[in-house]
Amino acid sequence: MSYFRDNIEKMSGYIPGEQPKDGIYIKLNTNENPYPPSPEVFRAIKEAVNETLRLYPDPIATAARIKIAQVLGTRPEYVIAGNGSDDLLSIIIRSFAGTGDTVVFPYPSYMLYKTLAELQDASEYAVDFTEEYSLPGDFIVKGAKVTFLANPNSPSGTMISPGEISKIASQVDGVLVIDEAYADFADDNCLSLVEQHDNILILRTLSKSYSLAGIRFGFCIAQESIIQGMMKVKDSYNVDRLSITAVVAALDDQKTMRANVEKIKETRQYLAQSLQELGFYVYPSQTNFILAKCMRGVSAHHVYQALKSRKILVRYFNIRRLDDCLRITIGTREEVEILLRNLKELISNNHAKSKVAYCP
Ligand SMILES: *Cc1c(COP(=O)(O)O)cnc(C)c1O
Repeated sequence: MSYFRDNIEKMSGYIPGEQPKDGIYIKLNTNENPYPPSPEVFRAIKEAVNETLRLYPDPIATAARIKIAQVLGTRPEYVIAGNGSDDLLSIIIRSFAGTGDTVVFPYPSYMLYKTLAELQDASEYAVDFTEEYSLPGDFIVKGAKVTFLANPNSPSGTMISPGEISKIASQVDGVLVIDEAYADFADDNCLSLVEQHDNILILRTLSKSYSLAGIRFGFCIAQESIIQGMMKVKDSYNVDRLSITAVVAALDDQKTMRANVEKIKETRQYLAQSLQELGFYVYPSQTNFILAKCMRGVSAHHVYQALKSRKILVRYFNIRRLDDCLRITIGTREEVEILLRNLKELISNNHAKSKVAYCP
């Protein structure tokens, strides 16, 4: 006998990428930034470690919201802060979808959307992206309460244009959540659509471009009535004192973030070209990772395992449409060189030497 609700009993739960305990891996599997955050972040956190830690933090993270509004050119009333954008995704699903409600997301995309729908016992529609990762006509599902769209998408790295997203926002019945975790690595974003559409919610995180995955801070931008409603749903103190301090310092130093993003974009270009030369199909990336499809005859799973045994972690998804692909986070230039050297060894023309990578 189970004490759990039926939908919880049946679901398998979200499985995050591996976080090995020993630090000896070249870690290219969970899209962390290879560069350190702004030194101002360390200074600010050290300064904040004092007796005020006995006090609860500001429940609505006012200092962070003001700084976000200033940096992005919006108003603090349009911003809600969360313990990572995953916290905001959880607030969103609880705010807008209940048992049996329709929840829509594309496939393949961020796997958490499916988990959130299952938690609510909602009715989920996973709509296949086209082969080139554009959106099919049936992405708009009548009566949907929540439609999720990671843009740029993970794990494809591809992007839908803001113009197209504006049209979708006008057509969907409920809210349209644009998860912009990778926006700082992209050429465009949907921030300006918030003024025109009262059903658009933009999600951002400091985990990727700001090198602060360990801090757990994300935020959502939407019109004031949406933000006010979400405030009722969130935990009272969902962002701690040290995080608020760290985030204000990180946002204050745009220069460090921009410089890191530029380095990553350069390395992305280099990795994409090198993977193509090795025979991979490379999806056009607007993110800090690349989805690479293995050439015919090569097993992505074997390559993943062989790399892991050589202490290089990349992401392998054993699911439809992705089981012949590897998702590779853009590391430092040095890390990427080591990866490429190992890939060359595994996928050389010499099958006898490298048959580990090939399909049985
Ligand atoms: C990394 C990622 C997140 C999670 O971000 P956190 O702020 O670390 O919780 C959300 N959505 C997508 C698409 C991501 O890739």
